[in-house]
Amino acid sequence: MSTRATAQLVELAKGWERIYPSARCSGIVGDARHRRTGGFHVSREDNPRGNYSIVRPQDRWGNGPDDAAAAIDMSMNTHDMTLCTRRLIAVYGNTVDPRRRFVNAFNGTVDGRTARRWDVYAQVVGPASSDHTWHIHAECRRRYVTSAVAVRAWLSALRGESVAGYLAGLGIVVIPTATNRAVAPPYPGRVLQRGDSGPAVGLWQQRMLQRGWHSLGAADSQFGPRTESVVRRFQQHCRVSVDGKIGPATWPLPWTDPLG
Ligand SMILES: [Zn+2]
Repeated sequence: MSTRATAQLVELAKGWERIYPSARCSGIVGDARHRRTGGFHVSREDNPRGNYSIVRPQDRWGNGPDDAAAAIDMSMNTHDMTLCTRRLIAVYGNTVDPRRRFVNAFNGTVDGRTARRWDVYAQVVGPASSDHTWHIHAECRRRYVTSAVAVRAWLSALRGESVAGYLAGLGIVVIPTATNRAVAPPYPGRVLQRGDSGPAVGLWQQRMLQRGWHSLGAADSQFGPRTESVVRRFQQHCRVSVDGKIGPATWPLPWTDPLG
């Protein structure tokens, strides 16, 4: 029989044990019973037919190694079980969470009494056997069982990080989108133009840098030629009248104009 635990899944299990004091990995590679029934604790090679865990895209032949298991069982006390399950549910419940791509499903409990299965791929919650009140069963998409990126995403979810926190850890700054508009700070009360300086200029520059207008240079609070040029191009982009000055109409746009 040929099912192995990849180095990345072992690393994930070790990282998991560091996050939750009571966590002990109780298995990655399945036993003879698993080999008969299939599932993510056995490889594709070990159960090539009738195996529900090699059907979905990213789990089929050609995705990741054929001789590797893709699930981890982690035993924990009730406190850690409920905390960990809730953190994974946050990923389950947020359909734009980028960490979801690495998760097929997980079994756990939020009250220490009832076990459930959260199928992230299908977005369905169902029953699970009662042993999942004391251990979480976590399934990684088979394509990613040798991926360090997947390990990082899983550990971020297990730590309870927000999506923004996860992305920040990868060096990605979240900028506003149409569904994530910010409230503009109050208009400073006078038109800002070339030659001006001060905190209001700096605030506006900072926001434009966050939106990716790097031709500004630094947010130095000085309204110089580079800032004026950015103001003109941004006014064009927003289809307001182009005068190179930050008046009451132009002031809030970096916060309110949706990014596509
Ligand atoms: Zn399991």
